[in-house]
Amino acid sequence: MLIKKLPNQLIDQIAAGEVVERPASVVKELVENALDAGATVIDIDVQTGGKKRIKITDNGQGISQDDLAMALQRHATSKIHSLDDLESLLSMGFRGEALPSIASVSRFDLISRHQDAEMAYQVSAHGGDIEGPVPAAHPVGTTVIVADLFFNTPARRRFLKTDKTEYLRIDDLIKRVSLSRFDVTFRLSHNGKMIRNAQGGDTDVLRHQRINQLCGKDFIENAIFIEQQRGNLKMSGWVAKPSWNRAQPDRQFFYINNRMIKDKLVGHAIRQAYQDVLFHGRFPAFVLYLDIDPELVDVNVHPTKHEVRFRDSKLVHDFIFGSIHQSLAQTRVGAMSATPT
Ligand code: ADP
Ligand code: MG
Repeated sequence: MLIKKLPNQLIDQIAAGEVVERPASVVKELVENALDAGATVIDIDVQTGGKKRIKITDNGQGISQDDLAMALQRHATSKIHSLDDLESLLSMGFRGEALPSIASVSRFDLISRHQDAEMAYQVSAHGGDIEGPVPAAHPVGTTVIVADLFFNTPARRRFLKTDKTEYLRIDDLIKRVSLSRFDVTFRLSHNGKMIRNAQGGDTDVLRHQRINQLCGKDFIENAIFIEQQRGNLKMSGWVAKPSWNRAQPDRQFFYINNRMIKDKLVGHAIRQAYQDVLFHGRFPAFVLYLDIDPELVDVNVHPTKHEVRFRDSKLVHDFIFGSIHQSLAQTRVGAMSATPT
């Protein structure tokens, strides 16, 4: 027999190749899990750009003792049970791949106390079999510790950049995620130093503060607030006036049903809306939220879920283009007086 089934750990490591490219992808998966668990406070603590250690603590609903070992099994998820669930999906996760993948390429600890449980439990996987659950100390919620990422996959490890570069990717990711949920507190520490502390709360003051911290202190002042609805498509957010443009596409944040998206069709619609009012080679700035019936959008295109497919892409394109175009038209006078930033 030449054909053999691969051992489970190797299958997980291969899957990890798709989801876990670098420390920032670990942070993304773990933060999304915390959000799916209903956390209102998420602490992200990384050492040496996340290569040495990533520790994420949330105050979500937690995981029960019975579910703890299951959480590290491939294709095991509490978020969908059928194709119907997938079609009406609102959670960030659904593939049941992140934890087993991350655990297969790191020294991994998962400690959690479920909201209905008397105590906390821990499971660990240090490059091999799963150990636990054993009793542990933890308030309601979950902590995941990922140490020595890629210690057993040297080829992957060699692709990592400097600590600084890896850290900046994490910081960028946290910026993006923190704009997706204003009601959640995000705290980020690097090498023991608190770098970001975005206080959660659904007030205009907190919202504007968070946006300005990430986009520049005069972004809101120079942006137009948009709120548009057509049928079951709804878009709200801020688009910078054409005069507040950028040399890089580094202030572009787009969310679909609270999920960060980098989508060609969306990008095209926005570029087109700015086409006549921006100098060539300059980029617009925006923070936009599209709400759409989950049945009209497919997020199961790629494991990282950055891309989407729309059932009616022309409708979505025209809606995004039209909403922005119309808002910009109102400020058209003097629009070409560009102030470089
Ligand atoms: P997915 O998010 O696609 O379901 P994961 O591998 O990321 O898959 O997580 C597996 C399961 O572990 C989740 O479905 C969830 O039930 C549980 N889980 C993971 N992280 C947390 C967390 N921070 N809080 C509560 N439950 C969690
Ligand atoms: Mg997940």
